[in-house]
Parts: sequence; structure tokens; C-alpha cells
Amino acid sequence: MPVGEGHRTGVGAHRTVAPPRISPHVLLFALLFVGGTTFGVWTSQIRPSTRLAALLATAAHLTGLLAGLGMLAMLLLMTRVPAVEHGIGADTLARWHARGGRTVILLTLAHAGLAWWAHSAYNHMGPVDGLLDVLGYPALAAATFGCALLVAVAVFSARAVRTRVSHETWLRVHLLTYVGTAIAFFHQPAGPDLAGAPVLAWLWTFLHVQVAVLLLWYRVVVPLCALRRHDIRVVRVYDETPDVVSVLMTGRGLASLDAASGQFFRWRFLTRRLWWTSLPFSVSAPVRDDTLRITVKVVGAHTRRVKRLRPGTRVLATGPFGAMTARRRTRRKVLLIAGGIGITPMRALFETLPGEPGDITLLYRASDSAQLALREELEEIAWRRSCRVHYLLGSSRGPDNPFTSAGLRRLVPDIGEHDVYLCGSPDMARATLRILRRAGVPRGQVHAEVFDA
Ligand SMILES: Cc1cc2nc3c(=O)[nH]c(=O)nc-3n(C[C@H](O)[C@H](O)[C@H](O)COP(=O)(O)OP(=O)(O)OC[C@H]3O[C@@H](n4cnc5c(N)ncnc54)[C@H](O)[C@@H]3O)c2cc1C
Repeated sequence: MPVGEGHRTGVGAHRTVAPPRISPHVLLFALLFVGGTTFGVWTSQIRPSTRLAALLATAAHLTGLLAGLGMLAMLLLMTRVPAVEHGIGADTLARWHARGGRTVILLTLAHAGLAWWAHSAYNHMGPVDGLLDVLGYPALAAATFGCALLVAVAVFSARAVRTRVSHETWLRVHLLTYVGTAIAFFHQPAGPDLAGAPVLAWLWTFLHVQVAVLLLWYRVVVPLCALRRHDIRVVRVYDETPDVVSVLMTGRGLASLDAASGQFFRWRFLTRRLWWTSLPFSVSAPVRDDTLRITVKVVGAHTRRVKRLRPGTRVLATGPFGAMTARRRTRRKVLLIAGGIGITPMRALFETLPGEPGDITLLYRASDSAQLALREELEEIAWRRSCRVHYLLGSSRGPDNPFTSAGLRRLVPDIGEHDVYLCGSPDMARATLRILRRAGVPRGQVHAEVFDA
């Protein structure tokens, strides 16, 4: 059993039975199993032929099946099923979704192109007549439109475009994925792989309905029920540093949320300007006595509005999400590394990770001391628990960079015996992973959360 699992994790902790979690290996195995079975079904239906049109059609069916399954898998990763979120972690799921999404789009395009070519070749038509003929079938015209929507989403998700549009614009365009997938679905049961096989067609439909139900349940019904049940409201908002505020909230029966230190929620503050966006923020203190606290760095339009929230504002909190909790721990000693506002989950873990004096060390990386949020609390916790906290201040560029593998080994000589929990921006996390590798920390001992959209 990993250290800390099943223990009480500090004041106000209540968990005695761990909620179910699906590990990355189990999920990958399940996806590969379904993919392998589909491939098997496809191979059993191949009619050997040397005709170009037949070969093209065969390739079109395979790419179509894989694209359909891949799209389902991508949606499944985003359903926010707690066992998947807690077992794998939201940032890993988002990474898989981004990488897998690119493959699915390529497969979809390959399928569309091959099917068009095969249709033209079978009917001895040129490409333009072939396309017009395909578009004459309502289901295929709809599938073509669905494919165009998916390509539009892919274009908007490309880094070069994404960094130029707001998160909301990107999100709204991303919602077209659901429309595209639903539209494209209707030509699938009529396709040659499923049309003659009612059991397979039912199974295929069942998989789609299942994913749709999970999406609706966990992304709409569960949050709305939580709004009623917990009635979370803002109590007060106060400054931590000139550009960081803490938001204190209260609600009913918050213990049943089962939020562990290190986790985050997606918050929808029900004001005129914020209700339509859900923002991810980690809990910056353990949930106790029906109070929740987040600590927010003001970086853009939404966080500026968070700073101005009034007491009494209702809050729809979805979660908890994230796998960077005490359950990931494999070693007695733990090093927590926070970059900037990445301190928020670390502050909660610093207070609650079980340990003897000296077992837990916190490294807090910031450009200067004015940027250090929650400093008094960290020092009080360090004093109370006999833990160490080090501040690494300065620019990360140039020879004065205070955060290097040699510096890390000086501060924590037995670093290889530690589990490392890491949270910060993507750049900070990448640089820290390199430093940890050079300092000899095995990757399996590093548990990271990246504050990336
Ligand atoms: C798992 C996780 C936990 C986080 N925890 C904290 C925390 O405890 N404290 C804190 O200060 N910040 C945290 N962040 C970052 C925080 O969510 C963003 O800084 C904030 O949403 C930006 O809002 P903005 O519109 O004011 O800024 P913008 O300038 O509009 O955006 C700044 C960055 O935040 C991203 N972003 C904007 N809106 C969203 C959204 N709805 N969902 C996801 N990303 C978005 C943008 O893509 C951009 O990269 C966390 C992020 C993640 C992914």
C-alpha cells in the first residue's frame, strides 16, 4: 500500500474508503481491446481482391472504423467520470485527448478521401462527378459535413491558432465536435461493416449511446445536483499579494465531495459575467468545516472578475478532479516543488501529507519575494510540523538561476529517496522535470500537475 493511503490525511480529513480509480494501464488496455476486436471484425469481412476500387474501399472501411472508435475514445476521455479523472489525472487525460485527437482527424480525413476515391473508381467517374454523386446520398452528405466540422475544430486546436483566440472561443468551436460526431454517426450503421451484422450494429450504437449518457450525466446532471445539494457561496475574497487573491466559500455537506489535498474543481461563479465559463482552480487548503478555499492569480479577464466577487455569490463547483494526491505517494520522504501560483495544491498537501518531522520539504520557486503567496501559512505549517520550506527566488534565465540540479542536490542531498510532487506552468514543469532527471530522481517518483488549459 502506498504510504498515506487509507490514513486520515490531516485536520478535517474524513476519507476512510478510497473511491474507485481506473489506472492508465487499465484504460489503455480496454481501449486497445475494443480497437483490436474491431480490427478482428474488419479482417473477417475482407474479400480478397486485386481491383484498385476494392482495395481502396477496404482501406476506407478500416480507417472509418478506427476513426469512429477513436472519436468515441476521445469523447470518453472528456466525460469527467470520477474514477477516470482520479486515476489518471486531468492534465494527462487532456494530453492524451490532444494527441489522440490529431490521429483521429487524420484517420477521418483518410477515410473520407479513400471512400470518395473508391466510389469514383467503382463507378468509373472523375473526382468531381464522384464527389457530387457521394453528396447525393443524404447520410454521406451529412457525414461529409460532420467531417468538415471536425477539421474546423482541429484547425482551431492547432497551437498557432489556439494561442491567438480566447479560451471561450476555442471552447465554443470545440463543442462542434459533439455535433460533428453525432452527424457522422448516422452513416455508420448503414456502412458495409455493420449493415449485414445486426449484433455489431447494436453494439456500435450502444457504445455511442453509452458515451453520450456519460457526457450528459457527469458534465450536466451531476454539477446541477451538486449546486442544489451543497449550496456553495462566496464568503469573502481577500488579497494575498497585489495580484493574488483567496476566495473563501462555504457550503452544505462538503465532506461528501471527498476532495483530497492536491485536487482541483472547475468553478462556475454565478454572476452575470462569469456564469458561462468554468475555471479550474485547486483547493489551496484542505476542505473542512464546510468551507472551501481557492487562491487565484489575476492573469486575465476572468480572474479579474474573480477578484471582484461579492459575498453571497452562488458557486457551481464540479469535481474534485486530479490525481496528484497522497495516493500517488510511494516513498516516506516527499519533496513538494511549486512554481508561482502552482503553490495552491502544494499548500494543501504540505499541511496534510502524513509524515514525521523532516519527511516533507517544500521548494517554492518565484521570481521575487513579492510574488510569494500564502507565505505566512507555509511558515506556520513548517514550524508546526517540523518540515522545511525553501524559497528559490530569481530569474530562470542566466547564470544566477537559483534552480539547478546541483542546487537541488545541495538543498536536498538524498533527493533520490524522495517522491516529488510538482505543480506550475508548462514551462516551469518541463524545466523542473529536466532538473530532476539530472539530479537522479526516477520518473516514477515524480507526480506532476500542470496549470495548462
Ligand atoms: C488543473 C488546473 C488547476 C489550476 N489551479 C489554479 C489555481 O489554484 N490558482 C490559479 O491562480 N490558477 C490556477 N489554474 C490556472 C487558471 O485556471 C487560469 O489561470 C485561469 O483560468 C485564467 O483565467 P483568465 O481568463 O483570467 O486568464 P486568460 O488570460 O484568459 O487565460 C490565461 C490562461 O488560462 C487559460 N484559461 C482561461 N480560461 C480557462 C478555463 N476556463 N479553463 C482552463 N484554462 C483556462 C487560457 O487558455 C490561458 O492559457 C489552474 C489551471 C488548471 C488547468
